[in-house]
Amino acid sequence: MIKFIKRMIIFIIFILIIVFLVYLNKKEYNIKNFIYKIDNKEIHYPIFSNTKIDEYLNRYLDERIKKLDQYDIYIDYDYQYTKNNIVLTFYETAYYDKMLLNNTKSFNIDLKSSDITISNNDISYDVYNKKSINSNKKYIAFTFDDGPNHNTKKIIETLKKYDMKATFFVLGNRIEKNKEIIKLMKEYNMEIGNHTYSHRLLTNATSEDIIYEVKKTNQLIFDVINYYPKLVRPSYGSFNSKIKKSINMPIIIWNIDTLDWKYHNSKKIANSILKKVKDGDIILMHDIYSATANAVELVIPKLIEEGYEIVTVSELFQYKNIKLENGKVYGNAR
Ligand code: ZN
Repeated sequence: MIKFIKRMIIFIIFILIIVFLVYLNKKEYNIKNFIYKIDNKEIHYPIFSNTKIDEYLNRYLDERIKKLDQYDIYIDYDYQYTKNNIVLTFYETAYYDKMLLNNTKSFNIDLKSSDITISNNDISYDVYNKKSINSNKKYIAFTFDDGPNHNTKKIIETLKKYDMKATFFVLGNRIEKNKEIIKLMKEYNMEIGNHTYSHRLLTNATSEDIIYEVKKTNQLIFDVINYYPKLVRPSYGSFNSKIKKSINMPIIIWNIDTLDWKYHNSKKIANSILKKVKDGDIILMHDIYSATANAVELVIPKLIEEGYEIVTVSELFQYKNIKLENGKVYGNAR
């Protein structure tokens, strides 16, 4: 009898150990879905009823909501159990103006320790451009002043060939003769900015004259392509507080000056970019020169090799999540 009880106890302990081991290996969370909905944000997220995991994911989502403050966002998720982990992926869609950004982010959640590690699956897609945007990619803006003229067309064709874009700050008094080029800019998704009507120096102009120079050019552009420019570059890039107050649009200057008007040497212009270029730069050129058109052809393949994507000024600031404000001056997107 004692022998039997002894055997039974050993057997029960054995069963308990087995059950415990199975439990350790088969730990599953009771994952519940929650929805957070406010204004233009809708977020579907899982609650694991595990403080460590839930706090981690909350922090991540809070960060995304803050980062995408100006966007309409929709986030949901998917997850899978693997042997020792849960792989949880958030799918994020953010809209702003004409931009649509998709972003996915995956986390490995260790079933035993509840430790979370980020899986390196973090790529976003710019659906508007139908182009994959790698978060490691560097963005810069080419800006062209004083056009359009016949060289502008060469530059637009080169940009198009490499699937790149730029911002053209056009002069109002050149629009009448170059309507077809303005239309081509729009057709190829280039950005058209305002570079005043007559290129007179605005720092010694009256408020009325400043407003006239900007408004007239905006209207001329609108008359051709049904689109009002969103950005101004004052003539010579000169500004003072009167100009900032009078121009009710963001003011874009630059941080790399190619001095193309001075050199007329395509290699020198290209090198002046390659020597200094960094992520977030705004580069100044003039689309009215042949040397500049050749420099663009020379420099784009090299910039692509170095991992740069050339975008419009508005896109550059959207990608860098910087909201442009009227009457403020911007020289780069950092
Ligand atoms: Zn100019």
